[in-house]
Amino acid sequence: MKKYFSVFLVFILTSITFSQVLDEQYFKENHEVYFKFNISERAELRALTNVISIDNIEENTVYAYANENEFREFEKLNYPYTVLTHPSKLIEPEMSSDIEGITAWDVYPTYDAYINMMYLFQLNYPNLCRIVDAGNTVQGRKILFAVISDNVTQRETEPQFMYTSSMHGDELTGYVLMLRLIDSLLATYGTDARITQLVNNAEIWINPLANPDGTYRSGNNTVSGATRYNYNNYDLNRNFPDPILGVNPNQQIETTRFRNIAETNNFVLVANFHGGTEVVNYPWDTWTNTPPDNRHHPDEAWYQYISHLYADTCQANSPSNYMNGYDDGITNGGDWYVISYGRQDYTNYYRWGREVTIEISDTKLIPAAQLPAHWYYNRKSLLNYMETVTKGVNGIVTDTLGNPVKAKITVINHDADNSEVFSDSIGYYLRMLSPGTYTFKFEAPNYYTQTISNVVVSSYNSLTVLNVQLVSSIIPVELISFTSYVDGVNVTLNWRTATEINNMGFEIERKSPSPTPSLKEGTFEFTDWKSVGFVNGNGTTTETKSYSFLDEGLSSGKYQYRLKQIDFDGSFDYSNIIDAEIISPIKLSLEQNFPNPFNPTTLIRYSVPNVISTEGRNLNVILKVFDVLGNEVATLVNEIKPAGNYNVEFNAKNLSSGVYFYQLKAGSLIQTKKMILLQ
Ligand SMILES: [Zn+2]
Repeated sequence: MKKYFSVFLVFILTSITFSQVLDEQYFKENHEVYFKFNISERAELRALTNVISIDNIEENTVYAYANENEFREFEKLNYPYTVLTHPSKLIEPEMSSDIEGITAWDVYPTYDAYINMMYLFQLNYPNLCRIVDAGNTVQGRKILFAVISDNVTQRETEPQFMYTSSMHGDELTGYVLMLRLIDSLLATYGTDARITQLVNNAEIWINPLANPDGTYRSGNNTVSGATRYNYNNYDLNRNFPDPILGVNPNQQIETTRFRNIAETNNFVLVANFHGGTEVVNYPWDTWTNTPPDNRHHPDEAWYQYISHLYADTCQANSPSNYMNGYDDGITNGGDWYVISYGRQDYTNYYRWGREVTIEISDTKLIPAAQLPAHWYYNRKSLLNYMETVTKGVNGIVTDTLGNPVKAKITVINHDADNSEVFSDSIGYYLRMLSPGTYTFKFEAPNYYTQTISNVVVSSYNSLTVLNVQLVSSIIPVELISFTSYVDGVNVTLNWRTATEINNMGFEIERKSPSPTPSLKEGTFEFTDWKSVGFVNGNGTTTETKSYSFLDEGLSSGKYQYRLKQIDFDGSFDYSNIIDAEIISPIKLSLEQNFPNPFNPTTLIRYSVPNVISTEGRNLNVILKVFDVLGNEVATLVNEIKPAGNYNVEFNAKNLSSGVYFYQLKAGSLIQTKKMILLQ
């Protein structure tokens, strides 16, 4: 595959022609130009890659595309160039609009046949396949994904995988191979054990045609005249957010459509099919892993493994010259030639996924009759590559209640340049790694970071399951209910917790109505919060715990309660506030004193309603003690009291033994009872 400079130099220099005039009319008719030119040293590529779209380099010969503006900029650099026949005009491709005809897989489908075929997959395999319409292109064509999985309508705890082809509209081998792959997965599910296993354990997204406007540039019935660029003449593989340069100022609608899909899912592994050469290209594209950048993806060894897995399997299933160039079928992207705003780096850097670029035919538009052969070269590689997502370290990240947590998962002393991964909306994560022993760090906002060492990846084919529960750092004790129950003059508080961390216990705080409620307003003034009890917590637990507290003998009125949850370290948190209302006793009631007979003290319990004079004035409640002759011997109560239940202690140490009467009076209501003092 490698061609040597010295052999070709003379030929190239003598072959330069200026026979074609690249005027305005040329670009009106052709939209883009495919050309080649020579460079003296590779360093020149750094500037050139931001002017034109470099397609390939063979020693010192650069093959490139340009739209009119790009070409005018290129002309200013004064490189002699040769205009080449556009790759989509080298042959007349065999087309078919008949789905039956297409399924022999040796023709290119018309645009309508392609769309129909995609929806037919969904129709024929509704439990395995659903079509996702990512939206329209510049010209209103569709960017479709076939999603393939068991329970395809549900998001399961499975890795999301993606194949996408032909973002360069004239690189079309992958387009037909993707359609055939969809058909093959669906047709052999349930009979082929490997495919069944894969479809059961992954969610596979396949986008056969990422740039339909480019592919059908000459109309929906032919791929002849397809362009690399989209309808606005932009290279979509120079149009994604770049690790160095950020978002592309000319982001195209196709890029936006793709980003919407990428950014609402969590694709752990992606491959992006192209043509024009035969190689698996791994990150980075924007940095070289040799001088001047020396910037290696932290998972470079793993990338080289999966790239070789693809290329080697192709070599084993093809003629001896297929996918064996470069470094035995693989290359570092930047080392081949640096590009900016590429899709692969976007997925790696901005989506924390893993993506390689796979070039699957030296010829961009191969005769359709060669498509079946390319299917057989790639069939096993396609499957091997997808199966990569069933290996590595995976698991579910949840909180202590089992709810999914979106966590950042870092391999300590390993990750760099956004090579960390994230768990997705259902808590699932996958970290693919080379064999080794690693330390994983799980972190999420408002959770305690967890570090797990000795995570072993025993081989490239092993799967280590590591489920992690993260503990909330903001709600150490999670209260799930707090209620009050009133029984007569008693209030019972009940509450339950879902989880507890370091919970020493609960202080029960109460706000009572003030002693002089403003009854006319019908409202109460409250005193300040006052602690009325403490209930021990359960320390740390992930089980639901129930608690209860009884607040007894309350006067009538509306009370408020809250829980002050206190940690062992002294920090605390308040619950919400709940009300409990003790309804006023309706009747005046005077209970028998206790003990009786007594010496020298006894307790008298009584209840009073609201006692208000006819003028609306609060009246005193009066409790007095009399001897058998009717002489008053003590006044125990003589004051305004809100309706409620009360106790008063009577001390008779200065009185002589005998029978006494005690009388409760509130307005016109009177009750009298008898008691005996035995000195
Ligand atoms: Zn390409």
